[in-house]
Parts: sequence; C-alpha cells; structure tokens
Amino acid sequence: MIYPDEYFDKIDEITIEYLKKHRIKALILDMDNTLINRNSEMPESVFNWAKEIKGQGIKLIIVSNSNKKEKLEKISSMLGIKYIIFAKKPLKSGLMKAVEFLGEDVSHIAVVGDQIFTDVIGGNRCKMYTILVESLEDKDFWYTAWKRPIENRIKEKIKNRK
Ligand SMILES: [Mg+2]
Repeated sequence: MIYPDEYFDKIDEITIEYLKKHRIKALILDMDNTLINRNSEMPESVFNWAKEIKGQGIKLIIVSNSNKKEKLEKISSMLGIKYIIFAKKPLKSGLMKAVEFLGEDVSHIAVVGDQIFTDVIGGNRCKMYTILVESLEDKDFWYTAWKRPIENRIKEKIKNRK
C-alpha cells in the first residue's frame, strides 16, 4: 500500500514511451513540491514536460490537498488543465472526482506526486498506477519533514529493484 509502482528523480523523466508501455492514458498530478516549489514557481523543465505530455494526448489534471484557490487557478491555467482543490489525499473522494473528469478507467490512470503518505497511498487505494517523484524542495515544512526518512528508504528500495 505504501509502495509506488515507480520512482523518478524528476517528473520530466516520465516519458511518453514509458506511459504507453504501461498503458497509461491520464495523469493525476500533485501540485505542491511536484509541479511547483515552495515559492510557487514552476521550473521550466516541468512546464515543458507537461506541455509535451499533453500534446501527445495524455490527459492531465491537478489534484491537490491545498486549499489555495488562487495558486491552483494560476498553475492549472498555465498548463490549461482542470484541478481539484482540497482533495484530502489519501482519501479516495478527491481522486475519484478526478477520475470522473478524466473519463478513463483507473487502470489507465497514474498518480504522480512527491509524497508517499498522500499521493502514493491515495493512488494505491484507488487501484491506480503510482509514480513517486523527488520533491522540488530540499527542505520540507515541519509537518512533512518527519515522513522523509521513511520515503527515502522506500525510494532506495525501488531504485535497487531495477
Ligand atoms: Mg506534494
């Protein structure tokens, strides 16, 4: 339940070939520390990656636990995609609302995020493919920092598996 199907250091390592190989037609994207850093900046590499993936016909949606509407609206409009606010991951409700928007079966959807305890567990509970990516932050807020040692052990395991 806490293991992702895949781990990448950077989100732009998720290629269209990789997604096709795993029959993934849509991605549910986390926002904070996945698409943007703590200063709400989206790295150009992330922006270009999202544009490229979307251009290849992969459906995208943001599902965020954040309740910051302005920020979510800005980021989603930059990418031209929808968002789900205050999703309460790892609960299933917000993620399943996204599934409705995407109109794909959960077996063809991957959740992409930087946190095991919200993104990965939430996606696993919904029977979706789960991709853990490295956080865009070096240091985390106090309320997520305690989880990092566990996540680092899991990342090592996934890497060694390859
Ligand atoms: Mg996050």
